[in-house]
Amino acid sequence: MISSKPLDIPCSLQERKVLEKIALAAHELGVPAYLIGGFVRDKLLGRKTKDMDIVCVGDGIALAHKVAESLGNNIPVSFFKTYGTAQVKWNELEIEFVGARKESYRQESRNPEVSAGSLQDDQNRRDFTINAMAISLKDMDYGSLLDPFDGIGDLDRKIIRTPLEPAQTFSDDPLRMMRAIRFASQLQFTIEATAFTAIRENAERIRIISQERITDEFNKIMLSPKPSVGLDLLYKAGLLKIIFPQMIDMVGVEMYEGKGHKDNFYHTLQVVDNIAENTRDLWLRWAALLHDIGKPATKKFEPGHGWTFHGHDAVGGKMVQRIFTRMKLPLSDKMKLVKKLVELHLRPISLTKENITDSAIRRLLFDAGDDIEGLMMLCEADITSKNKAKVKRYLENFELVRKRLKEVEESDRIRNWQPPVTGEMIMDTFGLKPGRIVGELKSAIREAILDGEIPNTYEAAYAFLLEKAGALNLTPVK
Ligand code: ATP
Ligand code: MG
Repeated sequence: MISSKPLDIPCSLQERKVLEKIALAAHELGVPAYLIGGFVRDKLLGRKTKDMDIVCVGDGIALAHKVAESLGNNIPVSFFKTYGTAQVKWNELEIEFVGARKESYRQESRNPEVSAGSLQDDQNRRDFTINAMAISLKDMDYGSLLDPFDGIGDLDRKIIRTPLEPAQTFSDDPLRMMRAIRFASQLQFTIEATAFTAIRENAERIRIISQERITDEFNKIMLSPKPSVGLDLLYKAGLLKIIFPQMIDMVGVEMYEGKGHKDNFYHTLQVVDNIAENTRDLWLRWAALLHDIGKPATKKFEPGHGWTFHGHDAVGGKMVQRIFTRMKLPLSDKMKLVKKLVELHLRPISLTKENITDSAIRRLLFDAGDDIEGLMMLCEADITSKNKAKVKRYLENFELVRKRLKEVEESDRIRNWQPPVTGEMIMDTFGLKPGRIVGELKSAIREAILDGEIPNTYEAAYAFLLEKAGALNLTPVK
């Protein structure tokens, strides 16, 4: 029995225990087994990781069942016979089992012809050298690192490199182009020059990959420490223009009468990086990515004034749903949040001017609701001036806006607020059916309260309603 033998990677006690159980099960079945891929890479990098990939020279599903049995009673195994893969969940760990395979690809698909193979065959079909390293779970060399392509050297040099010829690797499975860029962004590694050239040359082949998988990788880039690394690589590789053409419309600076505007693409990348320093929330990062997406469509040169982008907030807001639909992102509250932040992203700036009334502050609190903090974060991230004094002044201005927001919210409780007289009450009072007039009366009450014209009480709102309705010749029915 293998017990507490050393491993070439640092593992917790629990992980060791599981690996030893897997080794024992594999030994009993007589199949050589290895820990491989992301887990090995991440452990060597000291990153957190919970999914283990086990490859065995034999039947992966049978091994999964045996391991599940040895881990305890009734541990379920989910498996896919067609792919020969199985998954076991145990505590926080997700353990994936597969038989070693050899692959050959056809031009029109990323689904290869698969046959059983050796560990070496399996390592050859892995995407990057740093993802091809294995730890043996065999008795003979238990715990030792099997690294045929010097993945460990590449970890050290911080390089993304393919085990085999890069052009072939990316053409075989174009998703690997997204993965290369995603790893470069997550790990802050460099993609080897020949590999990057191969990505540029094969960019068009990304079209055979499903949108869900592309978006999955894109979101991993968005969640990386400095998303601009991956986004810029996507642009330079020629992938962005295929998967996200609206971003490309933001690239570049147009000159007219000697005046240019800022490059909205690189400005956006900076804003995404800025917000990434303060939040891991994917959707706030998406809001940063899309905040200026309406600029290309609204760009104008106004003589005597320069470049303007009037209405880019509203136009951008309208584009959000289309982009989410195309990217197969959820059309849920998250989409609504992104849309709202894009629409509102200029509002706090307008509140940094002098003599701002409480009613302007109330209005923003009402419109932003609970997302006010996210909105302020976006606005602060939107400051990308290189002039330190300017940045400091802008930030101080936003600090004042935050203070006012806090004061007004404390006194008026306007976030998530609803006016004291509802649409139903209006219909009851005047015997009206739902329709335009009810909507108008309702918003008149809301506006009057937000503007501070009348106090936020039922009595004042009702009196105001009677007055407004009177002007429309409406009389109460009771
Ligand atoms: P993460 O779990 O952070 O997404 P990972 O490298 O573990 O990163 P997985 O999708 O979990 O990625 O895949 C596990 C392993 O399977 C990888 O490390 C790699 O060896 C291999 N692999 C995954 N996708 C591909 C692919 N498209 N082409 C070749 N090998 C792949
Ligand atoms: Mg993984």
